[in-house]
Amino acid sequence: RFITLEGGEGAGKSTVIAALRDALEEAGEDVVCTREPGGTPLAEEIRGLLLEPHHEAAAPQAELLLMFAARAQHVRETILPALRRGAWVICDRFTDSSYAYQGGGRGLDVEFIAELERQVVGIVPAMTLLLDIDVHEGRVRTNTRDLWPDRIEREQEDFFARARGVFLARAAAEPGRFRVVDASRVREAVAADAVSHLLALRGS
Ligand code: C5P
Repeated sequence: RFITLEGGEGAGKSTVIAALRDALEEAGEDVVCTREPGGTPLAEEIRGLLLEPHHEAAAPQAELLLMFAARAQHVRETILPALRRGAWVICDRFTDSSYAYQGGGRGLDVEFIAELERQVVGIVPAMTLLLDIDVHEGRVRTNTRDLWPDRIEREQEDFFARARGVFLARAAAEPGRFRVVDASRVREAVAADAVSHLLALRGS
């Protein structure tokens, strides 16, 4: 089954992914953990292009298409083969992030993003865990990390606030797929909630 994690800066996705992996492996499942943008050599190179600090900032449309180029490769080369052999796939960010960051954050047309999703992605996660945290609180947590550094500096909090709004709206619109986890709590509590959602899905 295909599980994705979404959330803002400092929501603690990495800790949760490690906990989900442990829980599934303990249950004897085959697990593949992967991430976006990235997850294949070509897609990781696209990630590198997007992160490259000496480049000028990507135009929003260029960023969107690079994200979907990476995703198209990732789905075909990594995700679908793993799902076909019966593995669980846990992906750190997926198409919902494009709606949140390129759509909500950058203001690109949602219908165009939806069309890209239909044409080049074609798969929807069985469950999406949204690790929700207040933008400012999350930012304070990531202050010491050098993640997307020029991006973090360049973007204002309202960019991330718009992205959060899109995540929450998507979660409200698709309650069957999304589980919203309050990520402002200590990481053990966040991970425990995520694992219980996962095990409930596995048992269903
Ligand atoms: O997953 P992680 O927290 O490492 O992502 C860091 C940042 O990457 C996000 O907060 C966002 O600024 C950016 N991103 C993006 N569009 C995506 C995925 C990630 O702008 N589709």
